[in-house]
Amino acid sequence: MEIKAGFSKRDITPDLHGDFGDFYIAGFATMEAPKVTGIHDPIFARVMVLSDGNTKIALISLEVVGILIDFGNQVRYRLEAYDFLPKNVFVFATHTHAGSDTLGLYGPLIGISGINKRYILFMIDMIVEAACEAEKNMVPVDIYHAYSTRNDLIENYRNPEMIDGSLHLVKFKSGESIIGVFWTFTAQPEMTNRANTEISADYPGLVSGMIEKEFGGVALYAMGLGGAQSPIYCEHGYEKLNIYADELYKEIKKIFNDDKKLETSNIEVRYRNVLLPLTNANFKFLFDIGFFDRELVEGNVSTVISKVRIGNLHFVNIPGEPFPGLLGPLFEKYGKKGDIFMVISDVEELLGYFIPLDEYKLKPMEFTFSPFEWADDSEATEFKENLEKPQQFIGHELEALSYEAAEVVRKTVKELLVYKTVLAIGTHADDLTIWSGGTLKKLSSEGNKLICVRITDDYWDCVGITAEQGFKRNRKEVERAYKRLGAEEIVHLDYPTDTLVGVDYMELRKKLIYLIRKYKPDIVVSFDLNGTDEENMDHVITAQAVNEACWQSSFDLCYPEHFDEGLGIHAVGERYLFARNPTVLNFHVDITDFIDDKIQAISEQRTVLKNFFNQYKLLARANRLYIELLEEDVPNAIRVNLLVKYVWGEIGRKYGVKFAEEYNRVGAGFLEDLASD
Ligand SMILES: [Zn+2]
Repeated sequence: MEIKAGFSKRDITPDLHGDFGDFYIAGFATMEAPKVTGIHDPIFARVMVLSDGNTKIALISLEVVGILIDFGNQVRYRLEAYDFLPKNVFVFATHTHAGSDTLGLYGPLIGISGINKRYILFMIDMIVEAACEAEKNMVPVDIYHAYSTRNDLIENYRNPEMIDGSLHLVKFKSGESIIGVFWTFTAQPEMTNRANTEISADYPGLVSGMIEKEFGGVALYAMGLGGAQSPIYCEHGYEKLNIYADELYKEIKKIFNDDKKLETSNIEVRYRNVLLPLTNANFKFLFDIGFFDRELVEGNVSTVISKVRIGNLHFVNIPGEPFPGLLGPLFEKYGKKGDIFMVISDVEELLGYFIPLDEYKLKPMEFTFSPFEWADDSEATEFKENLEKPQQFIGHELEALSYEAAEVVRKTVKELLVYKTVLAIGTHADDLTIWSGGTLKKLSSEGNKLICVRITDDYWDCVGITAEQGFKRNRKEVERAYKRLGAEEIVHLDYPTDTLVGVDYMELRKKLIYLIRKYKPDIVVSFDLNGTDEENMDHVITAQAVNEACWQSSFDLCYPEHFDEGLGIHAVGERYLFARNPTVLNFHVDITDFIDDKIQAISEQRTVLKNFFNQYKLLARANRLYIELLEEDVPNAIRVNLLVKYVWGEIGRKYGVKFAEEYNRVGAGFLEDLASD
């Protein structure tokens, strides 16, 4: 797959002598920060735009301490005008502790934000300029990955054993020239000391500058899995910072050509809205007094976690700073051979540390400015002793939403790592597109394998043509529709339509068991037995046969002739079940980003649609009703657009999203409560 890449950067160093007003240093002293007095080294916004011709993404690296989701939303809003899909724009901070305040936590006094609003607008302008320029710069590239570890450059003051010194380097080459580098290292950029009042990009900026100078192109940095990963020389000041940057750059040069070319694929984006529980009283207080300009959702912070995949390369985007112990084991367990996981911390926002439960040391009690009152007595003593030792700070818990939040992050990343096989079984050509088109497209676009099965041949689902023509057209159109939904394979069982009630049930069920054993689906999407008042007996028989086949396929004495063919037993994980009149609905899928795909897939089925709207017209007339939309000469594609947006918009409203599809989800039942992971 051809990938195009383009890079660009803009200087976003605060102008101390213009008419911006005061800047406050986002250093280590929150709430009583000093003013910026000078520039040690310039800071930049760097942008990388990647496209596979279909999906275009932008990664934006900002040399500031952190951002909140509003900032990224403003960038996304502006870039939407330039044809960037908002969910494909990823803004992250490098987390330098020597930028101007971008969080509002580093003001002159408690309760006063240090954000320079004009500077924020300036930064957004610069980012938009750079993103548009990067897009114009796009050329076909080859992508290379190099890797090393430098645990010796990192200290973990909490848990000296838990060090992840991963250094990742991704090179983008057009012909022989380097047009860009994306690199991550896990050490927190916190080399400047507490007294510093000068702007600096810390080690990432120095090293990126060195890469750009020697190899050309633009070098973007992101902090990797950096929770509790302090650099040696932490807070030692500029002299040591230079030594550190030189040492890291030496390593980069060493591995620079020791790389591996990546097999590319289409660009896949997986995206999850999540609610992170907030129990930390200090954080909560800031929300309560309106310090953060956003609402909590029933006590939770609403944010996003995402993953981008190109071939074996995965960018895992986290809105804060996870500890290595939180995500590292997941990559080992759920990654496939050859997978490369590059965690990007502080994407979209900096919501503090995500600490795994077994490393969590303090339990927040209630709001206080003193951390000593925050822990119970024994912990407080230990905590105080640790604080008094130089660099023995264990107060990451003070800067974490809650340990439950880390658990949500871990579970979400796990979900983003797992790839599933989806077997969607519809009776007729239009069942899957109408009831589950958005869900199926979403699943396939996230890299899951989709197989679509049509049980009948729809030979008479047409009007004004012969059954033979109906059979042919419907087959061609359903294949187009399923391909639009991303089906890798399409199976036609070709039972004569509207006759399933009279066919050999056992034989139908056996065929379905065969398909389940052949494709080994994790998810089956089909009709629900719990639907009521279904007049279409094909749907009823399908619901019965599919749901029975889902468990019978795991019996080792059931149809042993399948085993002779080399197939094995298979248990289906989940079922997403739909019905005309559902009685059980316990699960919904947000299809807002896929509503157009659903409409297009349905609209492919012209022959069925013609009959569908003709039937409704006849029904309306039989009731002496005049329906303009049916009587007037309106193209069916427009009718579909209106109807689909109305019906699935109403469902979406129930769940607070624009469009949704809903199901009776049958999973492992009570076993899900017993699972330990
Ligand atoms: Zn049907």
